Amino acid sequence: MRVLLVEDNPGDAELVRLACDEAGAFALEHAGTLADALARLGSAPAPDVVLLDLTLPDASRLEGLRRLAEAAPELPVVVLTGSEDRALGAAAIQAGAQDYLVKGDESRVLLPRALRYAVDRHDQAARALLLVGERAARAAAEAARERMAVLAAAGTAVSHSLEDRHALSSLVSAVVPRFADWCAIRTTGADASTPDWITAHRDAAAAGAVSARLEGLATAPDAPCGPAAVAASGRGELREDVSSHPATSPWRTALEELGAESCMVVPVRLTDEVLGVMVFAASGRRFGPDDLAVAEEIGRRAGVAVANCRLYREARLAVAAREEFLSVAAHELRTPVAVLQLKLQQVELKQRTSVCGTCHLAVPADYAGAARQIARLGHLIEELLDMSRIVGDRVQIEREELDLGDVAREVTARLAELATRSRSEVALHCPDPVRGNWDRLALERVLGNLLSNALKFGAQRPVAIRVRSEGEQAVLEVEDQGIGIAPGDVERIFDQFERAVSSRHFGGLGLGLYITRQLVEGHGGAISVASTPGSGSTFTVRLPKAPSRAEPPA
Ligand code: ADP
Repeated sequence: MRVLLVEDNPGDAELVRLACDEAGAFALEHAGTLADALARLGSAPAPDVVLLDLTLPDASRLEGLRRLAEAAPELPVVVLTGSEDRALGAAAIQAGAQDYLVKGDESRVLLPRALRYAVDRHDQAARALLLVGERAARAAAEAARERMAVLAAAGTAVSHSLEDRHALSSLVSAVVPRFADWCAIRTTGADASTPDWITAHRDAAAAGAVSARLEGLATAPDAPCGPAAVAASGRGELREDVSSHPATSPWRTALEELGAESCMVVPVRLTDEVLGVMVFAASGRRFGPDDLAVAEEIGRRAGVAVANCRLYREARLAVAAREEFLSVAAHELRTPVAVLQLKLQQVELKQRTSVCGTCHLAVPADYAGAARQIARLGHLIEELLDMSRIVGDRVQIEREELDLGDVAREVTARLAELATRSRSEVALHCPDPVRGNWDRLALERVLGNLLSNALKFGAQRPVAIRVRSEGEQAVLEVEDQGIGIAPGDVERIFDQFERAVSSRHFGGLGLGLYITRQLVEGHGGAISVASTPGSGSTFTVRLPKAPSRAEPPA
């Protein structure tokens, strides 16, 4: 054991040296002044214990002890006092010395033991301190882990729904009871169905009482503390002990009535905007600054969730308004276009019945072009109307006994003029009747869309329509030899407004195939396409001949 003796009196120093030699196992170094001792402390090897005289020329009484402790707080010190100074020895122990020895013959016997004990005691104390430190570190790590878990749970909770009420209910439930005994949130601008306060309580039956008691407290004017104050200032509030609130504050009264002993109130914020407040309450434990940091982060996550819900609500309203507008506009456009179509038909009739064809009733030669444009306008309006019905979940299938071949013949005849103008020959193959229970108008629409696309994109080459039975299914194929569809576009062309061609070269709204698929699926059927760019496309529709049992009767 290395001992540093700090002693100015050579006689006393000699006595100590003798004692150490007798005991053996002590390596003694000697410093005559405190300054000398402090200088030695800096150089290795460090002593295991210091034996300090309290009457040094450069440090009297406890000063030497204090300065040694400053320089080497870990080092055990045994002090040496005169026989008349036992009280000083006791004071030295109070001040951190491990022991004191009275100089004289007695010290020779006691010295080795005192030194060993001092070192042992010091080691034990250091180990105990280490243990305490380790336990505290473990508890802190556990608390930090728990806080992270609460934050993760809060983040997951708010992502579950885009409706305020559900998102915020899951949020407060994720916090209770692991982080707070009860938790309440109130936001402004939520949809009308969201209650004033959304609350979770360790004891589920008590949640309603919390909401009722908090009523009005978030909007109380000039409140010095609590939700109203936090909503106004945007700064979080931590009351480790609820009784630290002003005695007369209504907020303190409410908390005490609700059994809260410690409480935090934080803003629900989105960047600088305060969207509401959140309250966390506990009894039997105290919140601290670390908890406040977690609560504030939860408040920020709540803010993002509330903003998302708001955006989603606004987007839904905007889409609904657009659908409504489309539906109304299509309806309004439909009537004048139908009247115009009728008028043109009358003009055509009159022209055909006029004797010479040149009288005052005759019409300009490009009347046919006008009629075609009107028909096209009528078709576009019908598509818009169909789409608004489908989006509004109003696809109605009215079934009747039909022959799909008849429908195909009718539609082909109706589009004969378009086929002539497209310079494509249309061949219909339907050797046998294909009977089933379907909606006639819907099937006319389906085949009309597929055939007009085949003519539009068919590059003036022949188009084939095939109708056949396959067991309980009817199969309708429309094949062209036109521009085809790139593999990457095949899936999306059945979605709303999706097109795989430039609008400069081919007109259209990108709705035909979307409507077609909805009508086919409305029959319990399916539509698919096989296509090679540059070689053509084959659209195949499969329809069950009878409605499935799950389908409600029309
Ligand atoms: P529109 O014809 O009004 O553009 P559709 O929904 O009927 O809308 O068709 C969507 C897209 O699918 C078309 O723009 C086109 O790119 C592609 N398409 C449809 N039918 C064919 C076809 N027979 N050949 C090649 N491409 C087609």
